[in-house]
Amino acid sequence: MLINTLLNNIVRFKSFVYDSIIIMMVEGVEASVIDIKPRINSQPICLECGKRVRAMTDNPQRLFEYQPIWSFKCDLRYAPRRVRCPTHGIKIEALP
Ligand SMILES: [Zn+2]
Repeated sequence: MLINTLLNNIVRFKSFVYDSIIIMMVEGVEASVIDIKPRINSQPICLECGKRVRAMTDNPQRLFEYQPIWSFKCDLRYAPRRVRCPTHGIKIEALP
């Protein structure tokens, strides 16, 4: 079983897909870092109003701490997209 299949069975993010997994040091601890990317043609959601809006650019990648997998520290790495909402202007997309 591939680790991506396992992750999809544990938690599936509708608008995102798991990309690659690497082992690296995070805050002095060895951790598995899972890269996440948006699905092709997925539209981000405005953080303020929850409506689907147009994506602009990507921000720098960030690490989001996730539940340990088999007692192994796990982080999700993702570059949140900037969005242009007609009502609220430029915001960061909402994340699950
Ligand atoms: Zn909005």
